[in-house]
Order: sequence, then C-alpha cells, then structure tokens
Amino acid sequence: TEPARILACTWTSTKFTHRAQPGTVLLRVFIGGPRSEQHVALDGTILTGRGVTSLRSEGGVYTLGLDDGTQLEADAVVLATPAYASAALLQAGHPLLADKLSAIRYVSTATVSLGYNASDFEHPLNGFGFVIARTEPSRILACTWTSTKFTHRARPGTVLLRVFIGGPRSEQHVTLDDQALVALAREELQRIMGITAEPMVARVFRWFRSNPQYDVGHLDRVDEIEALCPPGLILTGSAYRGVGLPDCIHQGQLAAQRVIERRAESTAQ
Ligand SMILES: Cc1cc2nc3c(=O)[nH]c(=O)nc-3n(C[C@H](O)[C@H](O)[C@H](O)COP(=O)(O)OP(=O)(O)OC[C@H]3O[C@@H](n4cnc5c(N)ncnc54)[C@H](O)[C@@H]3O)c2cc1C
Repeated sequence: TEPARILACTWTSTKFTHRAQPGTVLLRVFIGGPRSEQHVALDGTILTGRGVTSLRSEGGVYTLGLDDGTQLEADAVVLATPAYASAALLQAGHPLLADKLSAIRYVSTATVSLGYNASDFEHPLNGFGFVIARTEPSRILACTWTSTKFTHRARPGTVLLRVFIGGPRSEQHVTLDDQALVALAREELQRIMGITAEPMVARVFRWFRSNPQYDVGHLDRVDEIEALCPPGLILTGSAYRGVGLPDCIHQGQLAAQRVIERRAESTAQ
C-alpha cells in the first residue's frame, strides 16, 4: 500500500557482516517487481520460464512456438541458445545452417566447491588458482581459489576452492556420484597443493553440454554459419566468438545493435 518506488532494502553489512569491510556500510535496494516494473531499465515484455519449441519464417516474419502452446510473431529473432538447441529450432526451415550449428561440439564439466578453515592451510593462496596443462597426468582441469578471487564469497578465516573436473579430457568423470567427485577433487588437491584437511563444506554442481569447443576451423565455421542466417535471424552466445562472460556480453551487445539496424531497415522500406 506504500507509494514507494523501491520494493525493499537489505542492510547487507548487518545481515552478512563479511560482505563489507569494517567501518563501511552496504545497503542493497530492490527495484522493479510487479509494483514498479517501469523502473527496471529494460522495457518491453520479458517472458521467463518458457522454452521455444519451434521457429519458422514466412514473408520476413518469424513465428516462435512456445512450450505453453502460445505463439509469438517477430521481425527479428536473436537465438542466444546453445548451438545444438539453435540447430534443433532451425532444422526444419534451414537444414544446412542447422547442420553447421550441430557441428559445434560441446562437453560437460562438474565443479566441486570445498570450504575449509584458513588455519588448515599452509599455502598462502596468493593467486587466483591454477589451470592444468593438457600434458599433465591430472584428473582435474583447474582449481579456482575462489575466496582469493572473490573475497566476499567466504567469511574471514575461511577458504573456498572450486575444482573443475571433466571437460574434453575426462568427461566420463562428470557422471560419477557426488561422493566420488569430492574424493577425486580432494585426492588431486592433496597431490598438487598438499591439502589434507577435511572440508567443512563440499558441494558438487554438474554442467552438462555447457562448454562449446572451438575446434580447428571454428572461426571459419562461424563465418559460414553467419552467412547462412536469413535476414533478421541473429545468433549469439558462447558458441561463436568467445566463451568468457565479457565475450558473451560483447556479443549480446552486437546482437542488440543488429536488431536495431534491422528495425531501422524495416521502417525505411
Ligand atoms: C562451470 C563453468 C564455469 C565457468 N566459469 C567462468 C568464469 O569464471 N569466467 C567466465 O568469464 N566464464 C566462465 N564460464 C563460461 C561462461 O559462464 C559461459 O560461456 C557463458 O555463461 C555462456 O553464456 P550463454 O548466454 O552463451 O549461454 P548459457 O548461459 O548456456 O545460456 C543459454 C540459455 O539458453 C536457454 N535455452 C536453451 N534452449 C532453449 C529453448 N529451446 N528455449 C528457450 N531457452 C533455451 C538455456 O536454458 C540457457 O539459459 C564458465 C562456464 C562453466 C560451464
């Protein structure tokens, strides 16, 4: 009933004392939601929690079928889905494009996050972690020293590590059960970093078909894919020109720019 333009405010530095340095105050203000959607920077209609099950185009108009049975019409479509998901949507109308998208290979990874008391470590953790060379006989791919990289992710006096397992070299490990994955991660950390302590917390996450592989010839393939896209169809995301978040954001910005250009062209005609 209040005429406020914000939904809520968390006094974060009181709620989570580790999130602010001593002597500082951190507040988190929530804007948007059903009462004040106009204050969210994005306008238009945002549909979440719905999958696209079909995509066809006729006379320059795209029709998307959604998994709740509804349909959307659009002048332009940006597919930010994994290449194999985009291929499935394009198979009927653009089989050559779909085949080239399907050729982008994906692998799966698992991450094991381990939390310790800092006092259990002799290692200074004076870096962001390590990546293991392909020639090394290791069963893990990398380890991020998360509490060093993102200091707010662990309370003072504790350490958080994130071990990456699977990927192109040992994808079979991803489907091991949680206990086996934690054991594998701990054995490798003992061998590499000398950690023998029992973790206070261990969490396993699996990322199936989440890592596109840029095989030799990838950029040529992407050029061909883009050349095969009909006007108004734009592909973006980690499958194409960079997997890191900054790359994905940059590609998203370019995709948005192309939609604006497409709109300007349509209006001019
Ligand atoms: C374990 C792991 C750790 C990583 N760590 C880092 C890191 O530290 N730093 C970094 O820069 N990068 C990191 N990356 C890489 C980065 O996170 C990814 O490359 C990036 O998030 C990919 O974004 P995206 O939007 O292209 O794809 P995604 O995030 O995969 O988004 C694709 C979306 O499409 C949706 N979708 C699929 N099919 C349909 C459909 N039919 N209809 C509607 N929606 C659909 C999916 O639900 C999904 O939400 C990491 C990746 C992994 C897997």
